[in-house]
Amino acid sequence: MSVSTEGGTHVVARKAKKPRLTFKQEIQTIQNLPKLQRLIVAMKVGGVVLVAIGIEGIVSGNFLWPVVFIPAGIFVSMLPIKVRIDRCIACASPLAPNQAICAICGAPQM
Ligand SMILES: [Zn+2]
Repeated sequence: MSVSTEGGTHVVARKAKKPRLTFKQEIQTIQNLPKLQRLIVAMKVGGVVLVAIGIEGIVSGNFLWPVVFIPAGIFVSMLPIKVRIDRCIACASPLAPNQAICAICGAPQM
C-alpha cells in the first residue's frame, strides 16, 4: 500500500493574498511574536489550570479551593486580553480598542 503523491496542485487554487508586510517587517514580527505569545499562552493555560484546580476542589469536597482558584484563574486568563487591547503583539505599539490589525506593522492581533 502506498500513498500517491499529488504534488500540491490544490494549493494553487487558493487566491493569492496581497502582502501587507515587507520582508524586514515580517522578520521583526516573527522575532517579537514568540516572547509575548508565549506569555499570553502561558497565562491562558495557567488560568485554565487554576480553574481546573478549583473545580477539582468542588469534586473532592475541598470548598476552599474553588473560592481561591476559580477567581484567580479567571483573573489570570483575563490579563492577556488587557495586554492585547493595549498593545500590538508584534511591535508593542499602542492599539485602539478592538483594532484587529496593527496600523504600524500590520500584524494581526490574537
Ligand atoms: Zn504592530
